[in-house]
Amino acid sequence: YDDRDGFIWMDGKLVNWRDANVHVLTHAMHYASAVFEGERCYNGKIFKSRAHSERLRKSGELLDMELPWSVDEIEAAKDAVLKANNLTDAYVRALAWRGAGEDMGVAAKRNPIRMAVAVWSWGNYYGDAKFKGAKLDIAKWKRPSPDTTPHAAKAAGLYMICTMSKHAAEAKGCSDAMMFDYRGYVAEATGANIFFVKDGQVHTPIPDAILNGITRQTVIGMLEGMGIPVVERRIEASELESFEQCFLTGTAAEVTPVGQIGDYNFEVGALCKQVSLDYEKLVRA
Ligand code: PMP
Repeated sequence: YDDRDGFIWMDGKLVNWRDANVHVLTHAMHYASAVFEGERCYNGKIFKSRAHSERLRKSGELLDMELPWSVDEIEAAKDAVLKANNLTDAYVRALAWRGAGEDMGVAAKRNPIRMAVAVWSWGNYYGDAKFKGAKLDIAKWKRPSPDTTPHAAKAAGLYMICTMSKHAAEAKGCSDAMMFDYRGYVAEATGANIFFVKDGQVHTPIPDAILNGITRQTVIGMLEGMGIPVVERRIEASELESFEQCFLTGTAAEVTPVGQIGDYNFEVGALCKQVSLDYEKLVRA
């Protein structure tokens, strides 16, 4: 991704794609002091753009990093970089991090908080699993407890176990991994929230150790609008075999049906397909 034409917004300026570099002594590279957003622009409009900008600032606060850019300025940055790259349908990656500076230790209050926004075309996150149903591995890594990490932050450090889990899953021919939380309850995939269907009801984990995704909240609203009850509750591993359908939600994943988790199979059923189509309509409306 580093060697190509285009522009990246960096600390208030549009720079050439190839010049959007940082120093090796960047604090974030050593201590994971970075937060980010994944967003999608459809027909020239970023879906829930402000909610993403607000979450980016909030994630920063949770990591004791006050972003030097307001929500309005972040919104303007995203617009500018989409225009500069001439993209109307794109994935948007906003990133804020503690840079290199006076301090090289764990504490680095004097180092600048930096920010970048990059945009590029990104199709279906799970490829044709979007239609066939994704195959998920069961991760050996657990989502940590809320007194171990700030689970509501979309923070780079939380993705270390996600990358390891997803690599292990892909080595087994799976698209992603489902993770349990520190208590052993069903949590989420490595970059998406999870939902199950049973007897006309939808069940999804309480977001008390996971990211309460913007897509998750949107889909819960959609389901409620369809008159389908959504139950947020603790879901045990032993319940997996009793669910009829399963799907993932996320900005990149959108709504992707799941066909298999470990040894359990799910139908790519009518509700999964309906929610997936309705979400597609909503984001383009
Ligand atoms: N959980 C994790 C771990 C994620 O990385 C993401 C993607 N941001 C989600 C859930 C879904 O969040 P959203 O719907 O806000 O993209």
